Amino acid sequence: MPLPAAAASGHPVEPTRHRFLIVRYDDYSPVVPYRRVSVGVELERRIFELFRRYDARLVVGVIPFPIHDQTVPRRTLVSTSADASWLSDPNDPWVRLLREYVGLGTVEAALHGLEHRRRSPAGHRPGEFRWQSPQWQHGALRLGRDVLASAIGRPVRVFVPPWNAWDDATARCLATLGFDWISPDFHPIDAPIGTIRVVPQCASDVESVFEWMRSAKPPPPGAIVVLTTHPFDFEGDQAEANLRSLEALLAHVAASPEWACVGLSDLPRRSLEEWRRRWRAALIWHGSRRLLDDAGIASSFVRDDRATCYAPEEWYRSRQIPWRLAVGATAILSLLVGWVGSRAMARYGFRTRGGSRMVGYLAAIGLVVLVLGAAEIARHGYVIRGVRWQAICVAVGATLGFLIRRRRGVREEHDKDARRWRTPPSTPDMRPIAHSR
Ligand SMILES: [Zn+2]
Repeated sequence: MPLPAAAASGHPVEPTRHRFLIVRYDDYSPVVPYRRVSVGVELERRIFELFRRYDARLVVGVIPFPIHDQTVPRRTLVSTSADASWLSDPNDPWVRLLREYVGLGTVEAALHGLEHRRRSPAGHRPGEFRWQSPQWQHGALRLGRDVLASAIGRPVRVFVPPWNAWDDATARCLATLGFDWISPDFHPIDAPIGTIRVVPQCASDVESVFEWMRSAKPPPPGAIVVLTTHPFDFEGDQAEANLRSLEALLAHVAASPEWACVGLSDLPRRSLEEWRRRWRAALIWHGSRRLLDDAGIASSFVRDDRATCYAPEEWYRSRQIPWRLAVGATAILSLLVGWVGSRAMARYGFRTRGGSRMVGYLAAIGLVVLVLGAAEIARHGYVIRGVRWQAICVAVGATLGFLIRRRRGVREEHDKDARRWRTPPSTPDMRPIAHSR
């Protein structure tokens, strides 16, 4: 394995000193899934050359069996041989380019799915691997890995799932197939113990990362920024501007004693457990941030916005207590709003018993609808937004307010009845009839 890019440039990579920029270039293949056309390899050569010039490394996500069109019949693993892949032709210009820059140490080849086919049902979060059977995932990963490894002449250790979508079965299959790294996004998926190191995508806009790097306070040493790019970022009207931004970013990193542009396998090889703890801490922090963002609190909470990066575990840990407290306080406040609102409605809006009961039933129905909606969102593979959690808390508060009031009402009624039957009859119509003459 060649030396990490930063090491080659005379700046040895030090986890205690460096921050890491990882640039992903997804969808490397002679056919483009979203454009339905075959394209030349000139753009890729230009990009690879740019990275070589700055002694930087580029993570290239390779699609072994790309499809032009999502509607072409599905490939079965049993009937698919390695020869069916463009990677098995050593004279293919795309294969030659890949081999050349992998050999130079500029490119780290990653497996980017099998066909890049959207296998999730319509309406669900797009993905090729997520929620597919473990048998299929294992077979697809093994086939893709073998084809890519034989094309580049070295083992494949990195997996970049199409649409960043994966699940725990993906992690288990990757571990048994010798993969070390996966680069998805911050979608909350737990990596099972002892499987894989997760390094998520942090940004997808070259210019914004460059701006952030220049203007923001540097993140702590060991922080990682994964910038995902695609061929379409360097085509069309914005092509030249984006290439210039990329060059400026690489020049900035090359000149910086703090930053290094590396591949995933150049990252510090800490234990799987350490990487797993970091991933879990990041998920909790990002989940809290998402909840608070929706409540309009996060932007004032995070004064120096270092959330663009994947920070070291300690960074997340040191912030977990205040963020958890803020989430807890937001939930309690939302509950109180619902509770006080339902009480106020019952007392001042609907003075009759029927009216107040209607408020309670409406709150309970709202709660059921919101919870069922949340379950449906999760079933489709999406994250439930903070605003929905807040609405659920408000509905819980309103329903509780109604139930407590109702119980108290029943108890008071009961006490009243008990008092009525205990006290001697005093009303005139209950008095024994006096016989008078
Ligand atoms: Zn892709």
